[in-house]
Amino acid sequence: RTVYLNGEYLPEEEAKVSIFDRGFVMGDAVYEVTSVLEGKILEFEGHLARLARSMAELQMTGNLSREEWLEIHRQLIARNNLVDGMIYLQVSRGNAGDRDFHFPPAGTPPTIVLYTQSKPGLAEDPKAKTGIKVVSIPDLRWHRRDIKTVQLLYPSMAKMAAEAAGKHDAWFVEDGFVTEGSSNNTYIVKGGKIITRELSNDILHGITRASLLKYAAEAQMEIEERPFTIAEAQAADEAFFTSASAFVMPVVEVDGVALNGGAVGPVAKRLREIYLEEGRKAAI
Ligand code: PLP
Repeated sequence: RTVYLNGEYLPEEEAKVSIFDRGFVMGDAVYEVTSVLEGKILEFEGHLARLARSMAELQMTGNLSREEWLEIHRQLIARNNLVDGMIYLQVSRGNAGDRDFHFPPAGTPPTIVLYTQSKPGLAEDPKAKTGIKVVSIPDLRWHRRDIKTVQLLYPSMAKMAAEAAGKHDAWFVEDGFVTEGSSNNTYIVKGGKIITRELSNDILHGITRASLLKYAAEAQMEIEERPFTIAEAQAADEAFFTSASAFVMPVVEVDGVALNGGAVGPVAKRLREIYLEEGRKAAI
């Protein structure tokens, strides 16, 4: 695989980052994951806008221009013959020398890493046909979940806990309400209405979420942005989650309670179709 590191395209074995890099020592880095379908990038502008916001919130400098980012994405797709898959992008605050809590001096260049992951048939994930099962877990993350940092230890623990329980994923709960999934935004459907938590610092502002809500509104579907409980999810007609890599994923069980008789519901199915169709149309 050919990867990108700080201005160079390298074989992956040759791409090395300093042991002093703040991404490594402090978890001081932000990232984006973007899907590629048939060689085209989905939601490019959305991911770049969120990256710029994450960097600004953390006072990170050295962002690239849209044209530079696009060129890197296109080069990696071409050099790796990527058809379906993902592009992982990470920007860390760079090599600061010896460990220090303070940010390094202004002008310290960030460390920029991108690589592709091939996932043939990404849009035809069989899990989307059967739906997935989730368990709830307390949300013990920090309170700036709107910033997409690489501090993913707790989400990793949540996914391990879900797997240990024989389920696919975990939904975080705080003050009695679902915040979001371990790596996705969460939704329930009741009486045809799509219910999802409103944007705040409590959740990541999903790029897939923003587009899906736009497409749903255009399709005259009713949307309510508010928090919901696990009990409400268990009494819902359907549930699903969204993320850049899973698109719209139906959820058929919440803490052991089956929804829609344990089968994928019509709203989640339709929204997945709409998202993939519109997403492909807007891909560049
Ligand atoms: N929420 C969390 C915690 C995530 O990690 C992610 C994606 O990685 C999402 C939501 C979904 O965001 P997006 O649709 O931009 O991938």
